[in-house]
Formats: sequence, C-alpha cells, structure tokens
Amino acid sequence: MTRKVDGLYLCEECHLLYKEEHWAQKCEEWCRERRSCNLEITKHAVNKSELTL
Ligand SMILES: [Zn+2]
Repeated sequence: MTRKVDGLYLCEECHLLYKEEHWAQKCEEWCRERRSCNLEITKHAVNKSELTL
C-alpha cells in the first residue's frame, strides 16, 4: 500500500514520493513486479531537494 507522507504519496518499494496517489500506486506495482524503475513513472516523482522538510 502507498503511504501518505506530508501530503505526498510514498512508493514503499523504491521510496520515491509522488504528489498524486495514482502515480505512487503505478510505481509501487511496477517496482514490485519488475524490480526496476520505469522512467515514464518516475519522472512524475517529486524531487526530494524541492521539499522543505
Ligand atoms: Zn517505486
């Protein structure tokens, strides 16, 4: 399951953050099945350096 963190959605497989839940879910499904990253999905991830934690 994707986890919501500070208003963002976390892929628990690769720990990328997404603003939209559906991308986090796609990422998690992909990561779990393929054990690799899909650029078409990860390009939607939030850049961690843009976050103010
Ligand atoms: Zn992922």
